Amino acid sequence: MSNYSMTIGGELISGSATFAVEDPALGAAFAVAPNCTDSELDKAVAAAEAAFPRWRSDDTARRSALLAAAGRVEERVDELGALLTREQGRPLAEAIGEIRSAVDWLRYYAGLEVSVEVLQDNEYARVELLREPIGPVAAITPWNAPVGLAFWKVAPALRAGNTVVVKPSPYTPLTTLRIGELLADVFPPGVLNVISGLDPLGAKLSAHHAIRKISFTGSTSSGRKVAAAAAEGLKRVTLELGGNDPAIVLDDADVETAAAGIFGSSMINVGQICVAVKRTYVPRRLYGDMVSALVERAKAVRIGNGLEEGTTHGPLNNQLQLERVEGLVRNAVDAGATVAAGGSRIDGPGFFYAPTILTDVTDSMPVVAEEQFGPALPVLPYDDLDDAIARANATHFGLGSSIWTSDADRGAQLARRIAAGTTWVNCHLYLLPHLPFGGVKSSGLGVENGPWGLHEFTDMHVVYKNLVPGTPWS
Ligand code: NAD
Repeated sequence: MSNYSMTIGGELISGSATFAVEDPALGAAFAVAPNCTDSELDKAVAAAEAAFPRWRSDDTARRSALLAAAGRVEERVDELGALLTREQGRPLAEAIGEIRSAVDWLRYYAGLEVSVEVLQDNEYARVELLREPIGPVAAITPWNAPVGLAFWKVAPALRAGNTVVVKPSPYTPLTTLRIGELLADVFPPGVLNVISGLDPLGAKLSAHHAIRKISFTGSTSSGRKVAAAAAEGLKRVTLELGGNDPAIVLDDADVETAAAGIFGSSMINVGQICVAVKRTYVPRRLYGDMVSALVERAKAVRIGNGLEEGTTHGPLNNQLQLERVEGLVRNAVDAGATVAAGGSRIDGPGFFYAPTILTDVTDSMPVVAEEQFGPALPVLPYDDLDDAIARANATHFGLGSSIWTSDADRGAQLARRIAAGTTWVNCHLYLLPHLPFGGVKSSGLGVENGPWGLHEFTDMHVVYKNLVPGTPWS
């Protein structure tokens, strides 16, 4: 079995203990990853702490290192993409796209100024607002898009002058570890550390006294624990959590176009994307046509090992996730839902589940009300648009959402009535480095990406230069 190392203080550490990582297309272990011990964790955080003063002080060096890192990852896109497919399951083209996004994010942040804002400049005073790095930060990522999401954190954190300890999910640690190995000589020792371990490691890293900020992406339940750890240590925290994104089709939409967009945005990575479409509201007049168009697409997919050419849909990432999706669909069917396409796991090894279209569903069924995070799309008719918007908003999540219409201006007006971090009109899931991304309600705290994402990795520091001799108190 292949071995991967942690990168701690610029050294590759294979670790004294390991755990197995499965290939979800085979349902069997194919590699091992280091299970970070408490002393290795201390070493990683201490290395980040030691590297911080120098790293924060040289803006030019930071820019060049981010560009060099982008180049190094880009040279290995194919190798890294194949490894990501093996541990995560997504088809190779999607996996390569995810690795390329890491390159894009590194380049975007290399080009972004950490600007000084002038807040006042007159005869009384010149006041500048500096954005200071916070210190060693923890970047904790989930299994659904481990590399892309790691670099949403690593790129702005490093650009702002912080040092980082990255901890990927135990289901998908390998590609992040490999990137850490590849970048070990690109950054000064201790600037970028990558560690791996089973779930308790995330809690230990979050609680570590020398970590000053936690940037977390994962489930809402783990996010609450991270927020509690941050409160205890008075650390800064950004949380990107779950979602239950609605797509609302308007009565003027072209059914084929909307169906193509909605199907693609709900089934990408077999639905294991926080901002995948998770439920669809369709005017009753278009309902039959929309269901037929979605079913046609569900039947046309090519499910298989993501490394095989022509595969459009891979397996779910792990057994637990497969069982969760299976349970939610079974529960809906028991309560009266109809399976219009899919609705079952696929015989054989691996965690495969057929793309599933559900009708006769109600808003209260868990497959609609909860984040199902899999290839199941409930389609719900509506008679009144106000009612559809109210139903779309009736969730404790608020991450993404979309409106499908032939009148984009009308869609953009309606977007104002949706409670979400992003509302797309005639697309879904367009994630770009310069656009802020985050959730409202239980979908998270704070944002990532753009200058706003960089600011989340900084403390504000006001420098007030008094130009009037004396003070009112002298
Ligand atoms: P998870 O919460 O189980 O794990 C996420 C990460 O947190 C893993 O690295 C895990 O080891 C670690 N972790 C677990 N318990 C922890 C604790 N107490 N303290 C610190 N770290 C801890 O989530 P998951 O199952 O890996 O990922 C799926 C979830 O992630 C879904 O809910 C999905 O919506 C969400 N997600 C959100 C976004 C977003 O940007 N909003 C993006 C992708 C995934």
